[in-house]
Amino acid sequence: MAVNPAGVERAAVPGGNARRLALILFGPPGSGKGTQSKILVERLGIPQISTGDMLREEIRRGSAIGRSIEERMKSGLLVSDDLVNRLVAERLRQPDTAGGFILDGYPRTRQQAEVLLGLLAPAGWTAVVIHLVVNYNIIIGRISGRRQCPQCGTLYNDTSRPPRVPGQCDRDGEALVVRDDDRESVVRERLDAYRQQTQPLIEFFRQSDDVLYELDASQDPPAVLAEKILGLLPVKKV
Ligand code: AMP
Repeated sequence: MAVNPAGVERAAVPGGNARRLALILFGPPGSGKGTQSKILVERLGIPQISTGDMLREEIRRGSAIGRSIEERMKSGLLVSDDLVNRLVAERLRQPDTAGGFILDGYPRTRQQAEVLLGLLAPAGWTAVVIHLVVNYNIIIGRISGRRQCPQCGTLYNDTSRPPRVPGQCDRDGEALVVRDDDRESVVRERLDAYRQQTQPLIEFFRQSDDVLYELDASQDPPAVLAEKILGLLPVKKV
């Protein structure tokens, strides 16, 4: 069995073949997908693929893609399936994904889910979907205090995870920013998009051959929740 750089051994999953883990973190904005991804990247030694971060990077660079999506993102609407499917397919061709990866914020529509599962199954990936369940009031509280480092993407929260120095990233000292789409009116749009386009995927995953776990993500501190996720995965710590 292969041991990846984080010292984590990938176990054989039922069926006998050592297969690679495609971990899909699923849940509404503010459910902790980004925070969990960052912890799990460290623990599993596999990369995070955040479509939100990839799209924000396009906007930051002022690319043609960035210019075409800026308005939709600022208003809390989803960008086109074709575009995100293409970005993800390109990202999955990078060699660092060969031992597994964590998807954060993708898929978000039925069409994206179908494209993704169509890519994963024939290539021998084990898709595990973790649905982070959080109630509406907690989401609003989390998002309204959220700050992010524009440099490394680390997320903070005024109450639950403040930086050591107010307003500054612990890792690189960058000034923290509030994302444009974390403003209250936009958050409501994002939650509507989630309810209408993304939440129905839970039923889709239930009916697919992939593994779906639902976890209450309202109460536990991030490190505790991450342990619970790790306990569900077909990987074994050495
Ligand atoms: P996130 O950082 O995951 O909350 O995503 C921020 C914004 O990026 C979303 O509100 C959408 O506008 C866009 N976005 C991110 N991922 C996707 C996706 N899979 N499909 C469509 N739009 C996305």
